[in-house]
Amino acid sequence: MNLLIIGAPGAGKGTMSKMIVETFNVVHVSTGDMLRQAIKDETEIGKLAKGYIDKGDLVPDSVINDIIVDRLNKDDIKNGFLFDGYPRTVKQAESLAEILKGLGKEINAVINLEVSDDILIKRIEGRRLCPKCGASYNVFFSAPQVEGHCDKCGSSLYIRADDNAETVKNRLVEFRQNTQPVIEYYEKLNLVHNISANADRYVVFDDIKKTLEGIE
Ligand code: AMP
Repeated sequence: MNLLIIGAPGAGKGTMSKMIVETFNVVHVSTGDMLRQAIKDETEIGKLAKGYIDKGDLVPDSVINDIIVDRLNKDDIKNGFLFDGYPRTVKQAESLAEILKGLGKEINAVINLEVSDDILIKRIEGRRLCPKCGASYNVFFSAPQVEGHCDKCGSSLYIRADDNAETVKNRLVEFRQNTQPVIEYYEKLNLVHNISANADRYVVFDDIKKTLEGIE
């Protein structure tokens, strides 16, 4: 299966992606994670992307396309992928269609996570991440047992640099302006499965699981 997961910042794309790859035979590809790694590694792409990410702006399509072409040529995603945070513009969706056509592949389903605005803000403001094992927490909904520390490995948790109030506002504007039309693009292709993602992560995942079992 080749899948996309779409949703506003804070909708739970990362959390659901982790749960999906544990159950289905797909490789998780998050452009946000790849860009954050590039910033950490201080690569050319990382240096270019940092200014955009810090402001909550989208990184230019040409940069994202290069990353995706590179990633799609790796062997590990032959059996299926789950793109998270990509495509974020209609231009990216059109490029992806071209790239996949060249590879003889297609998208089988688009999971659209729908969350109300008040929950989105709390999900972002409360998000705490483990730098070591990648576990994610939320101080409002799923707090760690010991404040500021990972339940799994004990490391000190951190807050994503772009999870501050000012940047979040811009990320939500970017989503509405650029990514909402991407959902409409895939709706025309009858690929979109709307999932209400306001509830607890296990309830949301159960809905996704049933949906994906139906198309497998
Ligand atoms: P995410 O982890 O998906 O929330 O992405 C974090 C940030 O990385 C976004 O706010 C954008 O600045 C950038 N980014 C991630 N994916 C894309 C993409 N497909 N196109 C443009 N910018 C992206």
